[in-house]
Amino acid sequence: MQVWKFGGTSVGKPERMHSIRTLITADDSTKIVVLSALSGTTNALLSISESLKGNHDDEAAEKIEHLKAHYNSFIRDLYKTTTGLTKGQQIVENEFSYIRSLMRVKPFTPKQEKELVAEGELLSTQMFQSYLEEQGESSLLLPALEFMRIDADGEPELDYIERKLREMLRPHNDKQIIVTQGFIARNPRGEVDNLKRGGSDYTASLIGGAIRAEEIQIWTDIDGMHNNDPRIVKNTFPIRELTFEEAAELAYFGAKILHPSTITPARKYGVPVRLKNTMDPAAPGTLIADRTAAGAASDQVFKAVAAKDGITALYIHSLRMLNAYGFLRRIFEIFEKHKTPVDMLATSEVSVSVTIDDTSKLKDITDELSAFCDLEEPDYDQTIICIVGNFSADYAGIAAQVLSALRNIPIRMISYGGTEHNLSLLLHSRYKAEALNALNDGLFRPQN
Ligand code: ASP
Ligand code: MG
Repeated sequence: MQVWKFGGTSVGKPERMHSIRTLITADDSTKIVVLSALSGTTNALLSISESLKGNHDDEAAEKIEHLKAHYNSFIRDLYKTTTGLTKGQQIVENEFSYIRSLMRVKPFTPKQEKELVAEGELLSTQMFQSYLEEQGESSLLLPALEFMRIDADGEPELDYIERKLREMLRPHNDKQIIVTQGFIARNPRGEVDNLKRGGSDYTASLIGGAIRAEEIQIWTDIDGMHNNDPRIVKNTFPIRELTFEEAAELAYFGAKILHPSTITPARKYGVPVRLKNTMDPAAPGTLIADRTAAGAASDQVFKAVAAKDGITALYIHSLRMLNAYGFLRRIFEIFEKHKTPVDMLATSEVSVSVTIDDTSKLKDITDELSAFCDLEEPDYDQTIICIVGNFSADYAGIAAQVLSALRNIPIRMISYGGTEHNLSLLLHSRYKAEALNALNDGLFRPQN
């Protein structure tokens, strides 16, 4: 069985839903199809939530009517028969009357916001599955809220998901297409919750892992993961093959195409992930797999560059660190206590520099560090540039090639050797575009 996930733009127009049907029924294999909300819907729902939180009910009601009109016109083009359209109208009426009922809950809390934002995926999946039914396809709608569960830290409960999903699928092995919602889940209180923005990719990977799928395919509107940021750099190209490690670094460090957690369950169960383009289904896209399955292309030295903005660097010094042990532990315990992940790290004998992207606890962290360290003023507005590839310790000249490409750009920090697949640099965000372009020229041969 395969798991295919389609993002917001891939379901954002009735004709796109029509082409998805053609894609998923082109062969007889059984598929679990995970859908996002129609493009723009999650943002629209969050904006309704903002109005409700601010007690601007008239404004919220207007936004709701506007969104509903969009769905009403969508279903007119989606279905081909009056029976289909009547079903579509029922779905839209039901969900929007639920949305309106949420307006009356006072005060409007994060719990209601999550119920509201879940409507995007509930709408898209019901509409799509009833369209499949209208077209006579053998299909089933599987409610994600009955098997997707997260724990108190927002982490998916893999064992529960696997058990529940297998149990729910068992009676339906005659169905060819099983449609379910991305993004949404229940929390330990049984409330509607979600896997955070962009979480539908994560859903697909969790399902793929749980059922040990042959493959997880993530369908978007770009032809795979590119070697550099196409919004900033000209002449980028899709990467054919990546290992799980490389893809995880890239997804975390800013390659927007994939939710950063997506790789974890796929890698855990060894299920390959393929990134495909709905607009160009014949294009090979990007295959993410373990090193042996990822083929010869995984030996290429430089594979891709990604950048992550909004980074803050902290500089921690102490003469007491000289020849001392346990010092790093004391420092990191403070970050752990404040649940603040550290992304990058550089050390000397008497100092440590670290970067964080979540500054909500910065004051508490620096207060506690100051008790036993000297702190320099943090640097804000920093960017991590992450270069991914095959940097075996036996190869000479890798760092030289990177640094020589960046010879005209001030670099704040370097981290190399954490794995054999990553070299990260920290620089002020004002140099980001220049750095990405310089690396593209210096590390990649133009591909035609
Ligand atoms: N609809 C959700 C979002 O816009 C989840 C997703 O699309 O992956 O973030
Ligand atoms: Mg996405």
